[in-house]
Amino acid sequence: MLVVGGGLVGLTTALVLRHHGAAVTLVETRSTTSAQPKARRFHVRSMEVFRELGLAPTVHEAARDLAGHDHMALGRTLAEAEQQPLWRPGGADGVDVSPEPPCLLAQDALEPVLRDAAADAGADIRFGTALTGFDQDGSGVRADLQGRPLRARHLVAADGARSSVRAALGIGRSGRGAIGDPSVSVYFRADLADVVRGREFNLCRIEHPDAPGALASVDGRSRWVLLTAGTRTDRDWPAFLRTALGVPAADLEVLSVLPWQAEMLVADRYSAGRVHLAGDAAHVMPPFAAMGANTGISDVHELGWKLAAVLRGDAAPALLDSYDAERRPAGWFTADQSTRRATDPGAADLAHPFVLAAGGYQYRDGALHRSPGDAHDVEPVHEFAPAGRVGTRVPHRWLDEAHTRSTVDLAGPGWALLVAGDPQSWAAAAPLPVHRLDADFLPSGQALLLRPDDVVAWRGTDVTAPRRVLEDLLHPSA
Ligand SMILES: Cc1cc2nc3c(=O)[nH]c(=O)nc-3n(C[C@H](O)[C@H](O)[C@H](O)COP(=O)(O)OP(=O)(O)OC[C@H]3O[C@@H](n4cnc5c(N)ncnc54)[C@H](O)[C@@H]3O)c2cc1C
Repeated sequence: MLVVGGGLVGLTTALVLRHHGAAVTLVETRSTTSAQPKARRFHVRSMEVFRELGLAPTVHEAARDLAGHDHMALGRTLAEAEQQPLWRPGGADGVDVSPEPPCLLAQDALEPVLRDAAADAGADIRFGTALTGFDQDGSGVRADLQGRPLRARHLVAADGARSSVRAALGIGRSGRGAIGDPSVSVYFRADLADVVRGREFNLCRIEHPDAPGALASVDGRSRWVLLTAGTRTDRDWPAFLRTALGVPAADLEVLSVLPWQAEMLVADRYSAGRVHLAGDAAHVMPPFAAMGANTGISDVHELGWKLAAVLRGDAAPALLDSYDAERRPAGWFTADQSTRRATDPGAADLAHPFVLAAGGYQYRDGALHRSPGDAHDVEPVHEFAPAGRVGTRVPHRWLDEAHTRSTVDLAGPGWALLVAGDPQSWAAAAPLPVHRLDADFLPSGQALLLRPDDVVAWRGTDVTAPRRVLEDLLHPSA
């Protein structure tokens, strides 16, 4: 397997593929991981992926600086800003969404964690190496790495929004294009620990007429990003920042200035033969629901088990067609929701935040088997009400009093069968681990077939069905 791009989606692809036992080479043009903090909020679904990979404790440890900095703040300057009460989505009291809490961790701190873990897991990680061309035939992909050839069975293009792989394949993008005004993201260092102590925040809205913007905490002490409207990058940024901060900040140093435009665009196809797009190469969206990186992580969690099953010979190549069928509508859903949060934040029909955070999009087509009646069992999006419906992530329920194991832990890297009642009668039903489950969403006599990515592939009472369904899903007619 060849992965192009060593951003957080490419690195997660390498980790997921190694988790499933596939050999993987990753190439990244840059010699280092991202110098920009960019994404900072990793939702529970991404943390569940890291949990499955055995990385959640390391990621939480790396996120220690911003632990508890969940508040918003608001003021004319930072010095005058007041911390706002913590916002919880309506109807969310007492809802246990996931075995993992979300975390605030800047992308430039997460990527080295992923890069080290991927190398430790045995991936061949080559930074400072660009893909300069490729072609494919019936047996694989021939890649050109700056004059050096490399052959792979498949290629995952996690090469970012300006994906040259997508362009070479002639895959267009659809969507609303530019959203809102252009902005400039100013990354700077200044020791502001004493200024913010007791008023720690994730994001602080600055309303000063001469220096308005949104100030994001990168480590809560000395690294910050100010996002301000406009296209000019040649301002006197230290003076602008000091006005926004309202303090002298004698040690202030501007690290980078990045002009930036929010966009909503989704690739018209996610796969072309043996090449698959993931992350920003497949979709870009405004950052207001913090879904860009999170959606990319879900892409490759889904794609990874399918690619590995095909490489092992456990599944037919036609299984990979379900990647586009599942993840492209999911990309549209999150890109549309992220856009509407920017253009119409008060709209009544926005998805419940936990639906987005927990990857609650219901696949309608793909590697799924619907029984009669399932077609009408639609997961709501305006409330968070997971119920083990076909095409959704299994709802989280703790399996022990100590809260160490969750239903979300039962599948991955393998499949699993969850049964309400006597597991004996199901044991002969399929070559799968069978788990007895007493849960509100699984009536007596029923079973759920979980895919390696925790998605319910089938639900029913027929003990002979799982073996047949598994075979059909892994060997779909092309
Ligand atoms: C200001 C801002 C705030 C954001 N906040 C959030 C947030 O809170 N939460 C969230 O989920 N998302 C957020 N995002 C979005 C998030 O940063 C992106 O979705 C994420 O970086 C996409 O990761 P990626 O790996 O797909 O692409 P990238 O990070 O763009 O990585 C692609 C990599 O591919 C490499 N590459 C390109 N071409 C080649 C080639 N030919 N050969 C080898 N390597 C190549 C590039 O060098 C690059 O390193 C934010 C984005 C911005 C700009």
